Amino acid sequence: MSSKQWTPPLSADEQAALAEAYAQVRKELAKSERTIRRLEHDRESLNAMYENAISLRDHNEREKDKQSMYNNILLQVFPGLIFVLDTQLRYTTGTAANIAEKFGFSDEKELIAQPIGSILSGTADADWVEKTIANCHQVLATGVPMKYTDFIVFTDGSQVHSDVVITPATQKGEIQGIVFWMDDVTELFKMKEKAEEAARSKSSFLANMSHEIRTPMNAILGMGHLLETTDLSAKQRGYVDTLLKASDSLLEIINDILDFSKIDAQRFDLVTQEYDLSSLLVDVINIVKLRALEKNLVFTVFVEPSLCSMYKGDSIRIKQVLVNLLTNAIKYTVKGEILLSVTATPSDEASMLTFAVSDTGIGIKPEDIATIFNAFTQVDIRRNRNVEGTGLGLAISKGLAQAMNGDITVDSAYMQGSCFTFRVPQQITNAAPLLDIARLKGAHALLVGDSTARQAVQAMLCQLDIACTHVPEVDAAQHISGRDTITHALYFADSAQAVPLQRLQALFPAVHPVVISKFGTIRDNELPHGLKPISEPVISTQLLQAMMDHPADVKSAQADGAKRLGTFTAPGAKVLLVDDNEINLLVAEEILKQYDLQVVTAMSGEEALALAADEQFDLVLMDHMMPGIDGVETTQRIRQGGGINAATPIVALTANAVMGMQAYYLENQMNDFLSKPMDMEKLDAMLHKWLPSEKILHTDA
Ligand code: ADP
Repeated sequence: MSSKQWTPPLSADEQAALAEAYAQVRKELAKSERTIRRLEHDRESLNAMYENAISLRDHNEREKDKQSMYNNILLQVFPGLIFVLDTQLRYTTGTAANIAEKFGFSDEKELIAQPIGSILSGTADADWVEKTIANCHQVLATGVPMKYTDFIVFTDGSQVHSDVVITPATQKGEIQGIVFWMDDVTELFKMKEKAEEAARSKSSFLANMSHEIRTPMNAILGMGHLLETTDLSAKQRGYVDTLLKASDSLLEIINDILDFSKIDAQRFDLVTQEYDLSSLLVDVINIVKLRALEKNLVFTVFVEPSLCSMYKGDSIRIKQVLVNLLTNAIKYTVKGEILLSVTATPSDEASMLTFAVSDTGIGIKPEDIATIFNAFTQVDIRRNRNVEGTGLGLAISKGLAQAMNGDITVDSAYMQGSCFTFRVPQQITNAAPLLDIARLKGAHALLVGDSTARQAVQAMLCQLDIACTHVPEVDAAQHISGRDTITHALYFADSAQAVPLQRLQALFPAVHPVVISKFGTIRDNELPHGLKPISEPVISTQLLQAMMDHPADVKSAQADGAKRLGTFTAPGAKVLLVDDNEINLLVAEEILKQYDLQVVTAMSGEEALALAADEQFDLVLMDHMMPGIDGVETTQRIRQGGGINAATPIVALTANAVMGMQAYYLENQMNDFLSKPMDMEKLDAMLHKWLPSEKILHTDA
């Protein structure tokens, strides 16, 4: 018998199923092998990471030990007193050796967990300990660090100046305690005191020396001026000239040093007195204006009209600061403009006056701004090599400003310009405003001409809400819109001949001009009577005053129902007004119209004679000096001609107001005389006296 069992043969289906199952098993096996390989790889990676973590931990621990060793060394060798305190203000760590020694602990370990109060007390002044603990509590509560310098008296009698810094110790945004640090600065303090004392004695010495030098300098200058008056050759005159110029600059430098030294040595007193702001400004402007003229710079002054008229303070020192700032503005500006603007922030009895001096000069680099107020400091030396100076002006000015409880600040853009602002509190003694410009409400100024000052003036008027229209020359005004609203005409001219008054009168019969001349190029008496030029530098308040003094304004005031000029009217009376000057005629005519008189004008003796031959007048107002037949001769001819006006009263109008002229006119068949500029009261009396009484209507008397 065979041991082999018989196996029935597999059917084809079974064989196929078996083959499929076998294939499936192989697939699964392959997958498992892949998983095993991946797991093995992961295990290797994990092992590697684990080893890394272990070595990193070891490394960190070694580093931590090192750090803590360094920290300990630092705390051992650091010379100051550092206390690291917990939230209960108990000592945790710090410069233990120093603290133990300073506060009498024999063993550093005794400090641990000691409250700061008990470490400090017993060795130092109790008030100081109390204040220090309070400060520590405050830093704990607020988280805001504190830093100050303290003077501490220890119980052993030693005294120290100490810088104290208290800082919160935070971790993850939470305050864990504070660090209290004291640093002994007694030596530094003593050195600083010595240095200050030395600086004061240096300044005192300089002040004395400068004073001593000034005396002989005055003698040199005085003798130089005397020498100038003697007979000298051209060569000698040149020498004296140079000598005087050099002495002048030397004296200026000595004066600066003297001033600076006095301020620095605190040997300088303020002299307060009442002063008038307008005069102060005029004085300052007069000192600097020629320098601006020499450099052809536009110099304008804007003064807020509402500023008070009288203040109390040291006006001399204010002037000195302003002259310094303006002189610098002119010195450091090659072309363009200088503007002094004066404003104020008022309160009840005092006022913070603000003087801003701006220029379009070379400007100051941002990095130099911090140093320009230091004594003997000049910046941008290469660019300024041709500019004279000592570097003292701004130090003096700032010293003076601060001594007056004010200050000077600066804003500057390099190569564009600078603005120095000087603020000073001043007591008000007369609160009346410098100028009440209510009467200029609704004014419309026509600016004629293209002088460089025109833009600055236009800007000033705009600032005061006065409408402006600019035309390059008067004829261009025909085409502008709103012509009929124009109340004032401002001419910018540099000669009397360039002022086209006749043309203006034709275009704007009711508008009277204000003439603005370049630095005195038109003298007061060069323009027709009653019209005084305003000379550059234009001061806004002077310009506004001139605009308000205008007859045009008188007229509009009357139209508004304001009080009329004359005390009576005489609509039935006819007056002949003779003057060769058209503006004088215009002014006088406007005034006479206030009396409702019928006014006929003549511009020459000849014209007057022709009119007098034809028409009966009640009064003749006759100018004296006229080309052709003058006023005296015209009068004689009217009298001698025996015509209808032979007996008409003739009053001489003259700018020639010297003594004895009245007798002269009376001798020459005139009835009376009235001087120009016309005094309104005198004119009123004169008209009253000479006009036929039956034609006078009393309106308000
Ligand atoms: P200085 O006698 O040299 O003018 P200051 O003390 O008055 O001395 O001025 C110090 C420096 O500040 C000047 O040397 C100049 O470089 C700069 N500075 C002063 N004012 C102006 C200004 N308006 N524009 C540009 N630089 C100025």
